[in-house]
Amino acid sequence: MSGRGRSSGENYRAITLRLEPTKKQKRLLERNLQTVVKMLEISRYEFQKQIYHKFKEEQFDVSSRLLDLMVQRISKSLMSNKVLPLDERNYKFVNPSGRGWFIEVLLRSAKGRSRKEAKELIPICRTDNKYYSDIIDGTAYPAVIYQQGDDYFLTVTIPVEKRWEDERPVVVIGIDLNQRKHAASLYNPETGRFEWNTFFDLEPVDRKIKEIQRKISQIQRGRKPTELTEEEREQINKLYERIRKVIDKGHGDFIRKLLEVADAYWEKGYDVVFAVEELKGITKRAGKDYAPFNRWLHSQWCYRRFGILLDSRQYEVVEVSPAYTSKLCHRCGSEVKIHGKHKRLITCPSCGLKDFSRDLNSARNIAIKAYKEFYAKRAKDAGNVEMEADAGIAG
Ligand SMILES: [Zn+2]
Repeated sequence: MSGRGRSSGENYRAITLRLEPTKKQKRLLERNLQTVVKMLEISRYEFQKQIYHKFKEEQFDVSSRLLDLMVQRISKSLMSNKVLPLDERNYKFVNPSGRGWFIEVLLRSAKGRSRKEAKELIPICRTDNKYYSDIIDGTAYPAVIYQQGDDYFLTVTIPVEKRWEDERPVVVIGIDLNQRKHAASLYNPETGRFEWNTFFDLEPVDRKIKEIQRKISQIQRGRKPTELTEEEREQINKLYERIRKVIDKGHGDFIRKLLEVADAYWEKGYDVVFAVEELKGITKRAGKDYAPFNRWLHSQWCYRRFGILLDSRQYEVVEVSPAYTSKLCHRCGSEVKIHGKHKRLITCPSCGLKDFSRDLNSARNIAIKAYKEFYAKRAKDAGNVEMEADAGIAG
């Protein structure tokens, strides 16, 4: 994401596909895959150091002890992973006579230093068909095959073309990320109205994470990472991985909802922009509002992850400063009174907006703010939108 309005440069989307190699192909893959440590020619210690400092720089929201453990886990599993990097020199996607998707990959067929290579058609699992529209026959974007247990996967980065046409009017979908509930609202400057709203309840996600965290502390029983057995560390590592997946799934479900609406507006002839708050503001506010709530759900990592996932799709993502988005009324711009259970409601003494969702009010302010900051001038220049004088926050 960028704070400069329309993001520039290339965008990529990484997708992972399960491969279904035959027995013979498995044997060949076994011969061709190499450990990450060998490929990167970097010592595990060096690698750990780098991850550790990266997390520190990002002010990742965990204690040093936990960080230590995580870094050890990550590096160990990562470095011992077996991988085969691919590019246009040794593979491509093919769909021979519409039989389904395969990768045609060049594999070394003999042992040792021999350069003998053979082409193999490895099938891609058919249940991965939600990705079929992303794969193009004959393409070979950078990819990597990796092994996990007995399974083989292919992760490929595909360039994403952003949907944008300069002559179209724009609608902005403002998104307010919260710990209990996300809210989004679509602002159409042409009509001056909010034409669609949605909420996404995070309680189920939170419940699952807490359950996993309980399991982690049951294993840890207050001990230091160094006091854990290899097996226990392995278990904990798997549980952290599950937390990551739960969050990704939550993000994915919410993003799918957002994209459905974005697609519909694109079809109707609009450019669609997603607007979110800058990361800094969110976590600051999260700390204040929900101190005892969930560490994972309000970590910077979690929000950044959302941003990355959203930005890897077809629509522009812009960031706005979070100043006043939760304090002012989206309808008239006056300061609101915050009240209700968990302080999730607002009432505006100025225009009479009563018991309105605080999250939705923020989402709407974010949409208006992004529109004013990045697109209002363009629309005015093009003369296709009348500037609305009183919609929400000023400047
Ligand atoms: Zn008001």
